[in-house]
Amino acid sequence: MKNLLLFVVIAASAACGAVIQPGAEDHVVEVQYPLSKKDSLMLLFHEHQEFWSDGFDFPVGKPDAKGYYNAQGFQKNEHLGDDWNGRGGGNTDFGDTIYSISNGYVTEAFQFYGGWGKVMRIASVFRSKEQVDMVESLYAHMNDMLVKKGQWVKKGQAIGTIGNAEGIYLAHLHHEIRNAPGRDLGAGYGKDTTGYLNPTLFIKSHRR
Ligand SMILES: [Zn+2]
Repeated sequence: MKNLLLFVVIAASAACGAVIQPGAEDHVVEVQYPLSKKDSLMLLFHEHQEFWSDGFDFPVGKPDAKGYYNAQGFQKNEHLGDDWNGRGGGNTDFGDTIYSISNGYVTEAFQFYGGWGKVMRIASVFRSKEQVDMVESLYAHMNDMLVKKGQWVKKGQAIGTIGNAEGIYLAHLHHEIRNAPGRDLGAGYGKDTTGYLNPTLFIKSHRR
């Protein structure tokens, strides 16, 4: 029996990827089993509403990327994220602090080697008009990772430092924002932008 449909009553606020009415005292949420990664995270966030997003900031030069430039924006050369570099050029930004762009939950912090190096992913839940939604921010080529998988973080918290993926690149932060957590890492480049958001545009339109 696949996709068993259950109805779950959750008191006092939100829970799932589907349409949710914020502020409702009680409501019914349709949950598809097996739970998607997004739905299981939504249930977890329901228990930790103090970690719901209060807006988004840039991941370097807190809060607005002061002292940094975006060397390769979204879809430049089919790039699927932003590449943040220090204005000093070269490796002058090596070891600089990377900040969480919002409140959230660390879903991955792992050394993948190759072109990715150390990668961290953080899921963030936010209210958008009448709905609750989730994005995943992804930080790659890190030198140090300062938080671990399973940890809750606040906007602007130091989560790592800028690295070079074990010497493959000049130091920079590759930063993506995706519309759902847990997708394959992918290639970092591609014409098909399904599932990827323009990080700079997203952050600029969700500042607080
Ligand atoms: Zn990149």
